[in-house]
Order: sequence, then structure tokens, then C-alpha cells
Amino acid sequence: MDPLIDSYGRQITSMRVSITDRCNFRCHYCMPADGLPWVPREDILTYEEITRIARITAAMGVKKIRLTGGEPLARRDPHILVKQLRAIPQIQSIGLTTNGTKLDKAAADLAAAGLTNLNVSLDSLAQHKFFQITRRDALDRVLKGLEAAKQFAQLQPIKVNAVAMKGFTEEEVIPFAEFSRTQGFIVRWIEFMPLDADQIWRKEDILTGAEILAILEKYYGALIPLPATYSAETAKRYGFADGVGEVGFINPVSEPFCASCDRIRLTAEGALRTCLFAQEETDLRSIIRNGGADADIETAIRGAVFKKELKHYIGDTKFRRTKRTMSMIGG
Ligand code: SAM
Ligand code: SF4
Repeated sequence: MDPLIDSYGRQITSMRVSITDRCNFRCHYCMPADGLPWVPREDILTYEEITRIARITAAMGVKKIRLTGGEPLARRDPHILVKQLRAIPQIQSIGLTTNGTKLDKAAADLAAAGLTNLNVSLDSLAQHKFFQITRRDALDRVLKGLEAAKQFAQLQPIKVNAVAMKGFTEEEVIPFAEFSRTQGFIVRWIEFMPLDADQIWRKEDILTGAEILAILEKYYGALIPLPATYSAETAKRYGFADGVGEVGFINPVSEPFCASCDRIRLTAEGALRTCLFAQEETDLRSIIRNGGADADIETAIRGAVFKKELKHYIGDTKFRRTKRTMSMIGG
């Protein structure tokens, strides 16, 4: 089957799948304090529907799938979906991004089902600051989840992702670097993007990857740039001079990687999005539930991908916010 290529010649090989819009956290950069109206359960794609879409995209070249949300572990038995996706021959990696609160219970089933990559989001190692950002007192639970996941060789190396925000993250930089060096996690800082429900984002709030690198190098001396592990890798990786620990920077605002973007996203209710900041989306759920054939789904996906956005335009006069928050898209 022909590969999935957009009008700028970018080939799609990776898909983010949100399996729920619900979440037990209320991170400032994502959700409002009172939460959002949840999508009714019957409107959420079933695991079978997700697997069908994944099979169709895999036939067109998607090799990597990442499950996310909302909080993906808030949905029942996500390992069943992992197992179904694992059975698709072209899929080489299945990742999951979680806030970690339910990981201690879920890790064994996920590992057994064939999960290959695990990302845990954690913005502070200090209890009060963790509460400040997530509005939940759950640092201990996340650390417990990480500890549980460490027991499974299939899930290593685990990535710990932190959103980098000016005035909040600076004092976390060295503790997180030490966390990587002593615990074996890969720590990655992600620049804050305008996807928060409260619309507090301002360009001045971004702490760039370059600024974090400067803090690290002042403390540790020069870090060693590491090669990308694959061509469309979004993280710039660095090691320490003694070879212990790894940190990375995902800089979508200060160093956009749109030109090599290989990604599409499927929301929990089955809307296909070709960019985090897309203004338009394609309703695959209706096609499926109205009895559409695989060919109809394929045509809709190809049509959407052909119109994939050139870039996100953050910081440009052309930039427009999307109606969805990060939790409603699937980050
Ligand atoms: N609930 C899970 C979690 O937090 O890991 C999965 C969904 S969450 C939307 C996925 C990732 O998006 C998390 O790492 C989170 O920190 C990140 N994120 C959320 N809002 C963001 C924003 N405005 N800018 C940058 N990253 C954001
Ligand atoms: Fe929930 Fe993840 Fe959004 Fe935080 S970032 S509110 S954990 S979906």
C-alpha cells in the first residue's frame, strides 16, 4: 500500500492515540481547576475501533503508536489495547505517556502485554511544588509508580518528562539531573506550549532548552551531545562527562521541528488531528459507526494527512489557538 505522505512530502510513521479525555490531575498548563466536561463514555472509541484504525494506518506506514490522554491509566484495562496493537505486524513500538499515579498497579500488565516505551510526566521532585502545578498531593504515588515500573526490563529506559516553565523549573534542573544519574531515568524537559485551558501561556513563561542546558553546564561542566536514535526524534539528547545519566530537550517553541514531523493524532472520540494546533479535524468515528469500509477510513485519513499543517506558527502573527486543551487532544 502507498505510504501516508502530506503535501509537503513528510511521511507519517507515528500516531498518538488518546484513550480518554478524563484525568485525575488538574495541571495548570493543561486543565482548569474545576476540570472540563468529560466526553460521554459512548462517544469514546472502543479498543476494537482504535485497533481497526491503527491497523489501517499501519498498512500505510505507521510503525509507532503512543497511548496517551487525559490520563490513559484512568481507563479500564489499557493493557488489553496494548495487546491488540501488539498483534499488528507493522507496529514496532507501543508507548504510553502517564502521570504515573496508577502505574504501580498497571506496570506488570502493561509490560506483559508488550508495551515497549514508557514516559512518566513529573514536573517537580518537591512535594509543595508538585502540588502547586498538578493541584494534587500525589508525588509519593508517582514515585511509587516509577519504582514499580523499574522492575520490568521491557519498559527500560523509562523517560521522565517535565514541562519547563520560567520561574518554576530553574530550581528543579539539578535535582532532576541527579534523579537521572542516580535512578537511571532519562529526564526530558518540554517547553510550555499554548495548550492550557486557562490560557495563561505567555511567550515569556517559556524556559527554553538552551537556558536549561546553561544551568546544567554551569553545574556539571560541558555536557556531551548524543546522536538522535531515529531521524524524526524530537528530543536533543545529552549525556554527562562521566557517562552516567541522560537528559534531553524537546523545544517545540524555540526550535520547532515541524519540518520533520512524522506524526498524526487520534483523539479519544475518534477525531484525527494532523497537528497539535490543528484548526480542523476529521471525524473517523462517524465513518466507522455508519458502517464505513476500511477503504473509506483509509481515504479519510489520506485526505486529512494531505492537508497536514506546514507548521504551528507559535510566536507568529498567524498563530491561532486550538479549541482543545492538551488533555482533550492527547499530548
Ligand atoms: N496525563 C498524562 C500525562 O500527564 O503524562 C498524559 C497526557 S498529558 C496531556 C501528555 C503530556 O503533555 C504530559 O507530559 C504533559 O506534561 C504535557 N503537557 C500538557 N500540557 C502541556 C503544555 N501546555 N505544554 C507542554 N506540554 C504539556
Ligand atoms: Fe492530566 Fe496529563 Fe493534563 Fe496533567 S498534563 S492535567 S496529568 S492530562
